[in-house]
Amino acid sequence: MFFLVSSCLRGYIRRLQSVKPMVYADNNATTRVADEVLAAMLPFFTDAYGNPSSMYEFATEAKKPLEHARAQVAALINAGRPDEIVFTSCGTESDNAAIFGVLAAMPAKKHVVMTTVEHPAIYNLDEELGRRGCRVTKLAVNRAGLPNLDDLRAAISTDTALVSMMWANNETGVIMPVAPAAAIAHGRGVLFHTDAVQAVGKIPVDVQATGVDLLSLSGHKFHAPKGVGALYVRHGTRIRPFFVGGHQEHGRRAGTENVPYAVALGAAADLAATFLKDEATRVRALRDQLERGLLERIPHSSVNGDPVLRTPNTSSISFKFVEGEAILLLMSAAGICASSGSACTSGSLEPSHVLRAMGLAHADAHGTVRFSLSRFSTEADVAAILEHLPPIITRLRAISPFGPKNK
Ligand code: PLP
Repeated sequence: MFFLVSSCLRGYIRRLQSVKPMVYADNNATTRVADEVLAAMLPFFTDAYGNPSSMYEFATEAKKPLEHARAQVAALINAGRPDEIVFTSCGTESDNAAIFGVLAAMPAKKHVVMTTVEHPAIYNLDEELGRRGCRVTKLAVNRAGLPNLDDLRAAISTDTALVSMMWANNETGVIMPVAPAAAIAHGRGVLFHTDAVQAVGKIPVDVQATGVDLLSLSGHKFHAPKGVGALYVRHGTRIRPFFVGGHQEHGRRAGTENVPYAVALGAAADLAATFLKDEATRVRALRDQLERGLLERIPHSSVNGDPVLRTPNTSSISFKFVEGEAILLLMSAAGICASSGSACTSGSLEPSHVLRAMGLAHADAHGTVRFSLSRFSTEADVAAILEHLPPIITRLRAISPFGPKNK
């Protein structure tokens, strides 16, 4: 399809490139660093650059802001104590540390339950877990992207160490039943982890109200830089250190603390708290406007995931008779950034395991585009997508051997 698109549509692509609005609608992939966040972190490179573990006065100029940042992150997710926050390098590290750290702390337990729609940072751990002698059960989801809690009850056994269920899905935005799932796990003496990388900063996240034991978050999904994340570990939860070495992070993650990035995460957490209302109202309205507009203008299109239980910024839309990669290519030429429903980054072009788990046909999963907005998204962004995407789909359908006219 790529070859067909580029050879048939070379002139069309050139024309699209002449109108470059630069619309960024891929905020679930990563976000722009907020100006306030950048300003907060910069002094820790050149002024207060001391090692927070050192004894002299200068080091406290780094130590105090580090602990303040920990408290800011704790506040965003309503953790009871700042020392329940462990700074990490990213969401993937937090996810890996939670699963492997809990299993290592309870060697008699050999079973993990997760869902079939987890991010690869959890989903792909099954092979490594197998090598370590552990079993994994992946819970199915329905067409709306939601698991059945009876399946969870049935999956837990006497050797289950941990249930891991994402808070919000990265491809569809579907919000999972985290609180009841955590209650089921606890009722059977099992720990509960949630990958909240796509929830934190977009919707209210409260670790005490939901009762989760471990929670992963990632800074670059809510306007902090790439390279910093955190794992919330409820006080008293047994978990092995992620890295062994010095005593940093209360002995959980050795290595000199990344003060500028931790400070950035704290600043982003504070800002996110103030923008939650904007996400729930203005960003949601923009997303709904985009969805309605596309469905009205493009026949044979449909939105994936539960219509209500969804993060306000995310929209996954399947367009029949076209391939997501071809759509992305032409949208990119028009200056619009979004994602497709295929794992093309892995080089496999396999359709997304999330959409397949939700029961989408192979071809429909391939023809899916994810739009994800942020506090920086505007009406002009939505208008540009509504202007450019319908003719792109019409063009692609016209050359597709599977297009509606060829049926
Ligand atoms: N979990 C989810 C749900 C995600 O969407 C992502 C990133 O897209 C990750 C984990 C991994 O986060 P990071 O990129 O910080 O490693």
